[in-house]
Amino acid sequence: MSVKQNFETIKQDIVDTCQRVDRDPDEVTTIAVTKYVSIERANEAINAGITELGENRSEEFLNKYDAIGQAANWHFIGTLQSRKVKDVIGNVTTIHSLDRISLAKEINKRANQTIPCFVQINTSGEDSKHGLDPSEVITFIEELSQYSNIKVIGLMTMAPLVEDETMIRQSFRSLKELRDDIQQLNLSFAPCQHLSMGMSHDFKIAIEEGATHIRIGSRLVGQE
Ligand SMILES: *Cc1c(COP(=O)(O)O)cnc(C)c1O
Repeated sequence: MSVKQNFETIKQDIVDTCQRVDRDPDEVTTIAVTKYVSIERANEAINAGITELGENRSEEFLNKYDAIGQAANWHFIGTLQSRKVKDVIGNVTTIHSLDRISLAKEINKRANQTIPCFVQINTSGEDSKHGLDPSEVITFIEELSQYSNIKVIGLMTMAPLVEDETMIRQSFRSLKELRDDIQQLNLSFAPCQHLSMGMSHDFKIAIEEGATHIRIGSRLVGQE
């Protein structure tokens, strides 16, 4: 399938889902995750009208950025090693995987401007997942006040890899509750208005639970 066809289907899914839960589809930003696919396929996504691309490894991000540059906004969605920050920081629009103070420190040091970040949370409790334990989040975010180049625009999570829709939904719902708690703090460096959650297999549930940024790879650009 062409990216254009896939994108049309997903856009319709977004509209239908939003209608069900009385949300405005314009509140949902689709990020095309190009980590599995070629530069050509990523360009096809741009030609289909997609403006947001996501990569999870610095090498592959730089490879694609070399070819595509600022024709897209770039979202860094994977674990970011501190030593790689200097390579990517000038070119990424948003980081979705802020999960430790040492990383915040490095971003703050290397950035020439404020970097919008999502704080990644492990809402499923699975050992294999990165991200902060929900109980640590408020303290973590308060600590970020020292790092003036970081703006916390939201929270990010990955749902557990299970069939049970209730468990997936609960993971998204707990991210939203945490987001609401942080908003209550009224921190200027952490407006925390967004929720980055939902992938190919669970984005409709994520939208029902309030997602503002969905990260879609295989269903949108394919897996090659
Ligand atoms: C790969 C990846 C995605 C997209 O996964 P699909 O299931 O192919 O849609 C989304 N978010 C993160 C963090 C990823 O690593």
